[in-house]
Amino acid sequence: MKTKTLKSNNINIVTLGCSKNVVDSEVLLSQLKANDIYAVHESSKNNHKIIVVNTCGFIESAKQESIDTILHYSNLKKSGKIEKLYVTGCLSQRYRDELKSEIPEVDSWFGTFELPALLKKLGADYKHELIGERLISTPSHYAYLKIAEGCNHPCSFCAIPLMRGKFKSKPVELIIEEAKNLAKNGVKELILIAQDTTYYGMDISGKKQISELLQKLAEIEQIEWIRLHYSYPSHFPLDVLDVMKNNNKICKYLDIPLQHVSDNMLKAMRRGISKRAIIELIDKIKQKVPEISLRTTMLVGHPGETEQDIEELKEFVERIKFSRLGVFTYSHEENTHAYSLVDDILQEEKDKRAEYLMNVQQNISYEENQKKIGKTLKVLFDKSDREFFIGRTEADSPDVDNEVLVPIKDNYLRIGDFSNVKITKADFFDLYGKIVK
Ligand code: SF4
Repeated sequence: MKTKTLKSNNINIVTLGCSKNVVDSEVLLSQLKANDIYAVHESSKNNHKIIVVNTCGFIESAKQESIDTILHYSNLKKSGKIEKLYVTGCLSQRYRDELKSEIPEVDSWFGTFELPALLKKLGADYKHELIGERLISTPSHYAYLKIAEGCNHPCSFCAIPLMRGKFKSKPVELIIEEAKNLAKNGVKELILIAQDTTYYGMDISGKKQISELLQKLAEIEQIEWIRLHYSYPSHFPLDVLDVMKNNNKICKYLDIPLQHVSDNMLKAMRRGISKRAIIELIDKIKQKVPEISLRTTMLVGHPGETEQDIEELKEFVERIKFSRLGVFTYSHEENTHAYSLVDDILQEEKDKRAEYLMNVQQNISYEENQKKIGKTLKVLFDKSDREFFIGRTEADSPDVDNEVLVPIKDNYLRIGDFSNVKITKADFFDLYGKIVK
């Protein structure tokens, strides 16, 4: 009797925003499956009676995308195509009171820390014994590993602490157990994520334990690549570089969002670091791990940003030559420190400044890529299309960085395998090559 009812309650989980949200949706999926409730992630089929939208509430564009997605499903509900619509995640955590009256079709709204309540609504019990087990929605050979929640930094423009709370490290035993389970299920690459991965352990022992954690994860036999995202520049734990240098499993890759470099902006953004300290840090990183690929994110258009600040940032980007760089434009977010400032730069001007930086980066990426022609690189293949097998080098994280394309014709490989690729051609961002032994 029960099995029949559950089938009709099939659930589709829709995830918006960052990789941390993806992990939350994967945990929800695992809990539902453990309760014998049929659920899928990001299904494009229209036969699901229950929809859970896991939202993002970070900046204006992300909030709009979340609201549009909720409205899409609330229209499906109005037309009787779906029965229940639930919303969770950051946008709900931040604005549920306002949104409740605006979108009455939503059956219930849940915050970022209300998984048990959401499960109850879906007819499931929260299973503690599942901690450390997770069904992944990424290709089976790589997985995000969330090592902490929340953030203690006071960055002026950022609403994340409002939605994710204070920094809380996940106990190291749970992380190792989760990583071992993922490895047992075929994961070869772990991508470490948090709001600030380099702060790991501070709330537990008062000292930064990210290096110890990396070393412990590297002991897991099946894991071949461990990638560090979201490191924070101020008080950066330099011992991470020793671990990276001395352990082949730790990718020579570091994602370190800097947001800006002019002292005027670093002060206004409350980043807790100076231009000089940033330059010294990057010099140290490149000295210790010369082959490292640095990814960073910049934020332009913050209140008070001058032409001179942008020129300083452009010169810095030209000088450092980041392997990978993303640019956001400032979004005036309520209840953040910067909200008390005047949002004095027009969106058009913000977009122009972002484009100015990305043009510089495009040329840097092109030059860096040309240097790889003729080289043989270790590549992990994620997917294929009709023409190419598509993979990534150690210098590339999924979805945000560059790709290596190998023609399907004349090459044979399995998705999820590592292969050596001789680079034959390079464009602004992607590389092309052929499999070599
Ligand atoms: S480090 Fe700053 S930008 Fe990043 S989540 Fe924390 S407050 Fe936001």
